[in-house]
Amino acid sequence: MNLNFTITELCHSDKAIEHGIKNIPSLAECDNLLNLIYFVLQPCRNKFGAIKVTSGFRNKEVNKLVNGAVNSNHLTGCACDIIPLNSTFKQVYDYITQILDYDECYIETNSKGVRWLHVAFRIKGNRFKHNPNYLA
Ligand SMILES: [Zn+2]
Repeated sequence: MNLNFTITELCHSDKAIEHGIKNIPSLAECDNLLNLIYFVLQPCRNKFGAIKVTSGFRNKEVNKLVNGAVNSNHLTGCACDIIPLNSTFKQVYDYITQILDYDECYIETNSKGVRWLHVAFRIKGNRFKHNPNYLA
């Protein structure tokens, strides 16, 4: 399988840049990012085409600035927020939850109506958490 996601892409943060924070993962966190790419993100991009990454790895400072959960999978490099550009959220959500291994898969919407898909993967102990009623 060709991999065309990059660690850089998964560590980019406008918030970090804005605040002069270096958002650099440890080797273990890079390993988690690679597993996330290999088992979830790349299969999605290969199946559905363009997938935009809006937030991947976040160190503690960055996670705090974006009001991330204190135990967020983003902190360990196990999670990524994505926006499918050539398919619907539901198509990607259904594919991940029906076909792939995953720890979390949520379609989330903020107060401004901006939508993204939060997906997480752990090499051990995936919990398959998802929100089946998101369309309600
Ligand atoms: Zn997220």
